[in-house]
Parts: sequence; C-alpha cells; structure tokens
Amino acid sequence: ESQLNPNYSFENFLEGDSNRLARSAGLAVAAKPGGTSFNPLLIFGGVGLGKTHLAHAIGVDIKDKYPEKTVLYISAEKFTQQYIDSVKKNNRNDFIHFYQLIDVLIIDDVQFLSGKTGTQDVFFHIFNHLHQNGKQVILTSDKAPVDMQDIEQRLLSRFKWGLSAELQNPDFETRVSILKNKLYRDGVDMPDDIIDYVAKNIKSNVRELEGAIISLIAQSSFNKKEITLDLARVIVEKFVKNTKREVSIDYIQKVVSDYFQMDIDTLQSKTRKRHIVQARQLAMFFAKKFTKASLASIGSQIGKRDHATVLHACKTVDNLSSTDKQFRKYVEDISKKLSV
Ligand code: ADP
Ligand code: MG
Repeated sequence: ESQLNPNYSFENFLEGDSNRLARSAGLAVAAKPGGTSFNPLLIFGGVGLGKTHLAHAIGVDIKDKYPEKTVLYISAEKFTQQYIDSVKKNNRNDFIHFYQLIDVLIIDDVQFLSGKTGTQDVFFHIFNHLHQNGKQVILTSDKAPVDMQDIEQRLLSRFKWGLSAELQNPDFETRVSILKNKLYRDGVDMPDDIIDYVAKNIKSNVRELEGAIISLIAQSSFNKKEITLDLARVIVEKFVKNTKREVSIDYIQKVVSDYFQMDIDTLQSKTRKRHIVQARQLAMFFAKKFTKASLASIGSQIGKRDHATVLHACKTVDNLSSTDKQFRKYVEDISKKLSV
C-alpha cells in the first residue's frame, strides 16, 4: 500500500511563480527517480501551500511511469509512531529492513522529527542505505534546513545534499487559476467577480482559499440563495477572521520598528523625538486593533506605559490619519504588512 492520493496529481497542481522551481524539480524526480542530483528533494514552505499535494503528485507520477517500483508516502508523525511500536515489540530491525527495501520514500512534515533523537537516528540509517543504493528520498518540511531546530547535524547535512525547493505564497493570478480549476473539477459555475473577490482577499494559504469557496457553495445551496458578491463578502470575512493567526504585540513592534528602520529598544524608549513617538503610537494602535490585549497590557509591553497613554495613542493615530496624508500612508503600509 503506497498511501498515495491519486487526486493529488501534477495535473491538479497549478503552476505559478510561487511554485515553479519546486514543481519542475518534482517533475524531474518523477521522470528519473534516484537518477537526478535532487536526492533528497526537500520541499519546504508554510501551512497550506501545497507541500503534501506536491509530494503525492511526485509519488503518483512515479507509480504511473514505473509500476514495478515501490513507492511509500508516510507522514513523519506516523513514521515516528511505527518506530516507537517496533521498539516496544522488539522488532526495530524489521522496521529498518522494511524501509530499506523501498524504491521511493516520501516523508511528509519532517519538522515533526525535531527533538526525537531515536527516530532521527533510525531515519539516518534508512536514509543512508537508500541514498547509497540510488533510491529516491522526498521530504517536506515547514522550514528550510538552515532554520530547522533540534534536528541532528548529520541529518541536516544529508537534507542539504540534494535540492531544497520552496513553495511560496501564490500570487493573485495563480490563486485565481487554482480556484477556477477546482470549480471546474467540481462542476460548479461561479461568476468571475466573485472568484476574483475571494482570490483577492485570501492570500497566504491555498487550503483556506479552497475552504472559502467550498463554504460559499454550501451556503448558497443550503439556503437556496444565489452566489452573490454580498454572500462572498460575509463568508470571506468570517474566514479571514476565524483563521487569521493572532498577531502578537512583539510581532507588531518588530514590524513597526522595521518599517521606520529603528530597533525595538528605540521604539520603546522614553524619548520625545517626534518620529519615535509616532512609531510607538502606531505600535500601540495596531496592538489595540489586532490583538485582544487590554490597554494596560499593551502599555506595559510597549515600553512600560499606562493604559491612558495607549488610549491617547489610539486617538492620536485616528486623528492624524484623517488629517495627515503621509501619516495615513504609514497606517496603510503597516496594516498591509501585518495582515498578509
Ligand atoms: P501543505 O501540505 O503545504 O500544508 P497541502 O498540500 O495540504 O498543503 O495543500 C492544501 C490544499 O491546497 C490542498 O487541497 C491542495 O490540493 C491545494 N493546493 C495547494 N497548492 C496548489 C496548487 N498549486 N494547485 C492546486 N491546488 C493546490
Ligand atoms: Mg501537509
């Protein structure tokens, strides 16, 4: 049992600037598994950007071209569980042997191996055996190897042997084509302005992009309502609200101080210099807007100020952004940086 999902094919994996390198590397590996310098092929990127899909697509394509090859897809979590079971049952060697016989091994979300030294050790041996025998290894991770934490150095250096290819946030055009492809496959008609609206507003996660379209279709069919822009607005808003990661006050201070090219200590300092005061007030304003923290807590985290200072900052930002064009641009720029 290869555990491959045939729906996760290359055909269904729409190409764009954000994934071109990873997708082409995947195609190259599928054409000649174990026979390219992309071994291992490591696909990395944020949540919902298509790592699992692409990893499956490579496996599905290999199985198609080389039916005699054994291809196995497994999540790092399941791999770890199997390893732990094998130790309990005293058949660690059988476990290793089983994996050493595979032609194409795909392990998803290897960041899960962080800190799990036993599993890392066994994987190291399996990896070496496969690699030496010209077998293909495909890995996915939420981070590039250089940013991985608590993974043994010798394993990290193996990860870097082949190619690390990043999946980035898809641009607007790619988001639109992903949605159109999905609607086409599901046999659903949707007006272009609605597709554009959804693609414009959900930017950083393909899973959420598809999720919004699915609930839009469901809402309209349950309630026998037409799919309108108004309905799309309501759903996208809920989606963006529910799934938006809570930005932290630390993160806001970092974004604001980066924007004004100062460090966080300066932003928090007691100085009365106008541009620093304004930066600090903006940080407070966005902390109020984007977090659930109280005024008092915002004040204490941004340079140990009291709640009245934060309240004053929020009012000042409101006033200035309606009277001062330059200031309004600051607000808009920072707002954008915080909401992608
Ligand atoms: P990840 O493993 O990176 O979290 P997934 O592979 O689970 O992401 O992808 C999330 C969803 O987005 C899946 O339904 C997948 O089919 C879809 N998806 C991601 N990228 C693309 C793409 N380029 N074309 C079509 N669908 C995509
Ligand atoms: Mg995944």
